[in-house]
Amino acid sequence: MLESSSRPGKIVTVSQTDTVKQAAATMLSHNVGCLIVNDDDGQFVGLITERDIAHHLAESSESVGNADVTNIMTHNVVSCSPGTAASEARELMTKHRIRHLPIVDAGVVVGILSARDIMGQQLVEDRAAAEEVAMLSNCLKSIDLNEAAEIVAAEAPKLFGAKNSVLCLHDPNDPTGGPELVSSNRCPCLDGHLRSPGAVATLTEEQGYLSDEIPTECGNCGGEAPRVVIPLEIQGLKEADSGTEKRLSGYLCMCGLAPVGASGRELISYKARLTREIVTAHLTNATRYQQARLTALTDALTGVGSRKLLEDKLQAEYARAKRYKRPFSVAIIDLDHFKMINDVLGHATGDEAIRKLAACMKAEKRTPDVLARYGGDEFVILMPETKADDAQTLLERIRAKAAEIRLPQDTALSISCGVAESDPNHDDPRDVMRRADLALYGAKDAGRNCVRLWDETMARLIDTNDLEIENIKTLQRRVAGLSEKAEKMFMESIWGLVQALEAKDSHAKRHTENVMHYAVGIAQTMELGPKHVDLIRRAAMIHDIGKIGIPDAILSKPGDLTPHERKVIEQHPVIAVRILEKMSFLEREVVIVRHHHEKWNGQGYPDGLARTAIPLGSRVIAVADTFDALTANRAYHGSRSISDALGILTDSTGYDLDPDAVAAIVTWFVNIGKQCGKDLENLTLEDLHLWPCTQGEPISPSEILVPQPVGSAD
Ligand code: GH3
Ligand code: MG
Repeated sequence: MLESSSRPGKIVTVSQTDTVKQAAATMLSHNVGCLIVNDDDGQFVGLITERDIAHHLAESSESVGNADVTNIMTHNVVSCSPGTAASEARELMTKHRIRHLPIVDAGVVVGILSARDIMGQQLVEDRAAAEEVAMLSNCLKSIDLNEAAEIVAAEAPKLFGAKNSVLCLHDPNDPTGGPELVSSNRCPCLDGHLRSPGAVATLTEEQGYLSDEIPTECGNCGGEAPRVVIPLEIQGLKEADSGTEKRLSGYLCMCGLAPVGASGRELISYKARLTREIVTAHLTNATRYQQARLTALTDALTGVGSRKLLEDKLQAEYARAKRYKRPFSVAIIDLDHFKMINDVLGHATGDEAIRKLAACMKAEKRTPDVLARYGGDEFVILMPETKADDAQTLLERIRAKAAEIRLPQDTALSISCGVAESDPNHDDPRDVMRRADLALYGAKDAGRNCVRLWDETMARLIDTNDLEIENIKTLQRRVAGLSEKAEKMFMESIWGLVQALEAKDSHAKRHTENVMHYAVGIAQTMELGPKHVDLIRRAAMIHDIGKIGIPDAILSKPGDLTPHERKVIEQHPVIAVRILEKMSFLEREVVIVRHHHEKWNGQGYPDGLARTAIPLGSRVIAVADTFDALTANRAYHGSRSISDALGILTDSTGYDLDPDAVAAIVTWFVNIGKQCGKDLENLTLEDLHLWPCTQGEPISPSEILVPQPVGSAD
């Protein structure tokens, strides 16, 4: 409707019998650019403008001004009625390229619109629309994504006079999944086709987001035209797990609008544009806020709950359990010797271990259980409606599954768990956590890799004031056991490495194991004492670790090595030192490994040490290594019999090998022969492995009389 403000105040008329000159004078005196021409009855017959007069002056050769206005006026005047909307009036003026539009009521001009009036009117209308849409912004008080969506679905239809509305957002990267967010205000289609993304084709800005048609599916459900569909694109924050920005795309659909005339369309489109901007901005903020909240409630490394989530859930569960007098249990799960995994296999593998354990527990826990990462290598499972015994059963299952996890180098994981059931007599939910923690210490103390239930014997620690002292004691015990366990674990890892290395070379299979066995036998026969024997056993275990740096082509080359290849292979003791020198607890073993290729006569490598300057452990391993090299089926020679091999060792006594160490191996094997009733000729390698060392009478190497040329140990 045309507002009164948009009507010009003055309507100046002339009679159709007036001359052009009179009309010009009237214009001047009234200061207007346009006159209404009426007939004698006062009925509107035409319109004359300044421009008409100017044209007449330019073209007429007659005496100017004497002609009647009817000669120059516009007869078929484009006009509108008082009920015409401003936008419609504007469209008329644009279409007919006119700057004045009379408002005619029953043949009488009641007003005249100029282009300037129309622009003013539009500004007023736009401002009103903007203010209306701004109301939506005022209503959007919640930053919660779901609440914000509900407000939009409830308030936006009011701006458009729509009956129904629905706001629907999908993840565009998951075309098969349902919508991530749906908020409906009486949308009749909700449970049907809206579930799949792209089901509702959004309307474009060119279409003004407005359509007089309704899709068949919507129509079938009861949706009504006209409708407004505003497309929405929400850009969230980067997702922690994928590193890509979260996106949501969808629409705000409103249908059942009152029929829209041409004039209303522009206004609706204008409002739809504003609505789109406001809703997009608000939902973007809400999405980002939700993501930030979720991030805080989710552990970034594993994707399971965070400590914050656990605390929230624990509080709620405690209140619920107390109200309904129902039990719940918590379990604290801690990786065993996890520091060693970090140290030996690296921090990235440590992270992988944490992730794998989290995934394993997530798969094993029951749906209502809450899994959260509590600290570095500690997790908690909160088990509603669960008594301690059932919790223990679940945790035993998880422990067994966790033991199946494999890290690089075939390293296995183990976990310790402490379980406690809620006690409704205690007010503080932290109490149950404290008890589970004590049970966990119990599990660690019991040797790890087990589940312990909290029991009364641990109760004293909670109620008395000596809690800190007990903690210190527990920690002391843990620290004391740590270095021993660390070493054990390291050696286990190294053993895995050695075996992986030997698996590459079919000829070297069991070489390290054999050398360890022979070296221990020699050392025991030499009566070196248990600590020294153990040192030699560990050195033997790692003696060839440096071969990891030697190319396979050289390691398993059949036939002679070139001088250069020999130089390369001779690097392996020094490579081993480089690998292991940082491990201070292997200090003495590393020295033995470095020198296990030195020769009694000083002709060995890497340092050319001679005789007793060579560490005893190295001399023992050299004999064991040479013996295994001779009796194994190597790439460069077939295997020799035990007696042949011992003959070669004896022959090299004083040149390559320590005479005492050679004498010891001979003594040991002869004694084994005695124990199993065989002489050296009939003794097999299996016999050597079956019979442990028992000290016997020393035997002189010269008693073995099968001289052979000395072969290479490697
Ligand atoms: P215990 O059997 O007594 O539990 O021994 P432990 O070595 O597992 O000792 P503890 O549980 O006290 O040590 C946890 C270690 O976890 C300490 C820290 O170096 C490591 N850690 C903590 N957070 C992370 C992480 O996010 N990634 C990795 N790789 N290591 C972590
Ligand atoms: Mg741990």
